[in-house]
Amino acid sequence: MPQPSSPIAVIDDERFDAHSERHGSHPERPERLVAARGGLYSVLPERAIHRVAVRPATDSELIAVHAERYVRTLERELVHGHGRLDPDTFFSPGTQQAAWLAAGGAAELARTLMTSPHARGIALLRPPGHHAEANHAMGFCLLNNIAVAAHAALAAGARRVAIVDWDVHHGNGTQAAFYDDPRVLFVSLHQYPFYPGTGAPGEIGSGAGRGYTANIALPAEQGAETYGHAWRRVVLPLLEQFGADIVLVSAGFDAHHRDPLAQMRLDSACYQSLASALIDSVDSAGHGRIGFILEGGYDLQALDESVAGVARALTGERLALPEGAPSAAGRGALADTRRALSPFWKLDDSA
Ligand code: ZN
Repeated sequence: MPQPSSPIAVIDDERFDAHSERHGSHPERPERLVAARGGLYSVLPERAIHRVAVRPATDSELIAVHAERYVRTLERELVHGHGRLDPDTFFSPGTQQAAWLAAGGAAELARTLMTSPHARGIALLRPPGHHAEANHAMGFCLLNNIAVAAHAALAAGARRVAIVDWDVHHGNGTQAAFYDDPRVLFVSLHQYPFYPGTGAPGEIGSGAGRGYTANIALPAEQGAETYGHAWRRVVLPLLEQFGADIVLVSAGFDAHHRDPLAQMRLDSACYQSLASALIDSVDSAGHGRIGFILEGGYDLQALDESVAGVARALTGERLALPEGAPSAAGRGALADTRRALSPFWKLDDSA
């Protein structure tokens, strides 16, 4: 059984910081991790931390998620100093090491949570991963860290893995990685329509995976009430019925009202409450295993405060879910998701 007093497993490594665009104007920049660390270490004293050693992802870990040819192509491309893999996704001399360490670090976090007394953890890593697909880099992402982590959890004995992606952008790469796989439940909340364009409520998985992908496609300008409603009416009921052995969170913080790239209205207290409810759900399930893996979030103050909020939830300082009525548009979006999933799950379909 997990011990609530067990130190929190932490992935953090200064080698992530060497992934840096030449002129430093890209929003996905090393200062993001400096801010996230500021938030984490303002809450967690060293004695409350179990530091997990970071190592590069292995070939077999990467090939579980990516095409081997893509991995080889990346290795060849990334030796060329500075460049771009797509219009948004830069690389620099430190990128190959950082990307391989981020995917390997995510895998080590999942393995630690599955196999040690440290059931709760957080990974502060760059580059982010949830847009990376089997065959290509996109949206600041090169390797899909959380998909690699989910496979690591399965390899370490998990029968079922749930991924909750609260980054404001749809996690298209993660969705694609498990679209026909009933062992992995993927639940994404995102601004829609928005980058990268995927994540409609009708995208529910295929083949044996039908019903194991849940897309909550929210219009812009949603606040804490809509997210609280989504947690109560979709996210928590799905987690309870699915019965995962571990929950992994694609923890982007770009739905924060300060974020320059998106138009949602969350604040750091909201992230603390969303994290609290997920931690309560894994505690109720009896195993307590949950890992938060950094994705996006481009306002430094928002990152600092929101990571601190998640850290407080991890240490047991729980905040209740936001109360209050969601917007009519938010309520409608939730109803679309519930309708699409109603053949597969018991979801109260009253408004
Ligand atoms: Zn994002």
